[in-house]
Amino acid sequence: MQSLHLAGLSPTELTEFVEGLGEPAYRARQIFAGLHHRRLRSFAEMTDVPKELRTKLDEHATASTLTVESRYISSDGTRRYLMKTHDNFPVETVFIPEKRRDTICFSSQSGCPLQCTFCLTAQLGLLRNLTAGEIVEQIIIALNDAYGVLVNAPRAANLVGMGAGEPFLNFESLMRAIRIMAEPDGLHIVSRRVTVSTAGVVPSIRKLATILDRPHLAVSLAAPTDELRNELMPINKKWPLRELLGACEDFQKSLKPGERFTFEYVMLDGVNDSDEQARQLANLLNRHELRAKVNLIPHNPAEPLPYQPSLMKRVETFREILESKGIHASVRKPRGRDILAACGQLAARDANPSQTVSDFAPAKVESLAI
Ligand code: SAH
Repeated sequence: MQSLHLAGLSPTELTEFVEGLGEPAYRARQIFAGLHHRRLRSFAEMTDVPKELRTKLDEHATASTLTVESRYISSDGTRRYLMKTHDNFPVETVFIPEKRRDTICFSSQSGCPLQCTFCLTAQLGLLRNLTAGEIVEQIIIALNDAYGVLVNAPRAANLVGMGAGEPFLNFESLMRAIRIMAEPDGLHIVSRRVTVSTAGVVPSIRKLATILDRPHLAVSLAAPTDELRNELMPINKKWPLRELLGACEDFQKSLKPGERFTFEYVMLDGVNDSDEQARQLANLLNRHELRAKVNLIPHNPAEPLPYQPSLMKRVETFREILESKGIHASVRKPRGRDILAACGQLAARDANPSQTVSDFAPAKVESLAI
């Protein structure tokens, strides 16, 4: 049995837990700051807390449950962490350095139950949902590795829930993690710095529409017709385009000023990237009066996926057709392809065997602070 992971508790819950141990509430504030503001992953390091309490905490709870197995660094600076849970399931997180603001892409599930034919994660199947603590800890590990332990992040990172899994099939843990990460006394990554991507879980889109303080929404389309979408994203058989876009219309009505809502469209050479399909997509979105921007993602290939990325010229023409019909569109630059860190490439694979953790000298792992 895994002991209670304190990184998954809200400040109120942590206070209740600490009071249950017979300790005053202010200790909970110290522990919360230790975990989330200072990003410590053991009670032993919380030297502002008395030693007896640290021992007591170790008996009843844990400050970390993930271990980093491997770290891969791309030629473009992107870092992929392959971690495992206490019960041995893979978890992957990607740190993407950018000029203005770095982005951390986290996973919501180990594996994924959806069977999108263009995504490598699908090949794992669903292993299990991640807990809120496991979601939060991914971000702590990535920040510590990128910036150093006890070093304030040089700027607020953006988070994207676009790693392994379908976040909206793990809705409660996802939203709990996002609330905890927003705490001003902790990581302080507010929800408008977070974007969550769904393959189209309609009830969760409707639920998100009722929540005031929420992350940005991205919806993966991949096809302009039910016929093709059924084939590429079998979830479409459960929630076809009419229902999905109906939920998106209602979500659009709930948008506050400055809130973003986007569609993602993976570009597969010769499959969904023709001029005709661009017109169909634009007409579909216009029919539903959806004003969201479309983000075109050139396919990230990986063996044994049966697709190739559309040529950049094709992607650009597709984008121009959308624009000519009043749909704003942009192209996502692929990052970390060489280390299997790009969208749809997360499947707990070794990218470069020379970098597995077994090759890390223990001291080196420590100096990585992960
Ligand atoms: N399950 C969620 C989030 C994970 S995928 C979802 O489907 O939205 C994040 C994005 O990557 C999605 O838009 C997905 O369509 C896209 N994607 C998946 N596999 C890809 C691949 N091989 N190349 C490019 N994009 C891919």
